[in-house]
Amino acid sequence: MRYCRFQSDSTTAYAAIEDRAGTLWATRLLTPNEVPAEDLAATRLPGPFQPQPLSALPLLPPVTPSKILCIGRNYKDHAAELGNELPKEPLLFLKPPSSLLAPGGTILLPSLSSRVDYEGELAIVIGRRCRHLGPNEDVRPYIRGYTLVNDVTARDLQKSDGQWTRGKGFDTFCPTGPLVSNEIDPIEAPVTLTTRLNGKIVQQASTADLIFSIPHLLRYITAAITLEPGDLIPTGTPAGVGSLSPGDRIQVEIAGLSILENTAAAEENPAAL
Ligand code: ZN
Repeated sequence: MRYCRFQSDSTTAYAAIEDRAGTLWATRLLTPNEVPAEDLAATRLPGPFQPQPLSALPLLPPVTPSKILCIGRNYKDHAAELGNELPKEPLLFLKPPSSLLAPGGTILLPSLSSRVDYEGELAIVIGRRCRHLGPNEDVRPYIRGYTLVNDVTARDLQKSDGQWTRGKGFDTFCPTGPLVSNEIDPIEAPVTLTTRLNGKIVQQASTADLIFSIPHLLRYITAAITLEPGDLIPTGTPAGVGSLSPGDRIQVEIAGLSILENTAAAEENPAAL
């Protein structure tokens, strides 16, 4: 099952997605039973739904997480490129849900930062509440599916603040989508993540190279924190991170999942505080 979430007039709704001759189509609305329970505001549309290409829908992020729990330095080559030691345990940090950005949306480069980086990532979407997942417990029943995230980062503020909250947390710094799919299983079969900046490949790695596997991450997190349906867990970025400039087009792709595409623009200078 693959689905997206979209805006229709004043309501939000979910549609199932199918591949038609190499193009992704939204083919039908999800039934009330299929709509994620955590998204109580989502409704069915009053009129009939016409199948249409995914690209024609006003997409929203496909998740409404209570929290976005990210993993830092989870690929060896990325830790090395930033001069960091390999972590002995997963390095957790949070992005606020207010940083979510729809597929196709504009990443706003804040004037407070002089270096904003892209970070292409595979993200886990939680399907069932979980806490204290055991060492031999199968984590898959708790996973609804997977999506793509661009963990946009103000690198200079991440370093100067010490805490990562501001550098990782600006509005628009969490492009997510365009869909959630349970038709890939990166726990069994690693997938290849590719990031393109203005059409040129800048990141490419297999999830087989994750330092901490998806089951390990879920056990580690739930030893401390309850995960709720809809929670989003970007699993870390491989080598090749780099900065975004106004006008850049950035794509994160996993074959068999989809492509998340956004553009970057300078944030208009807000009125002086
Ligand atoms: Zn990241």
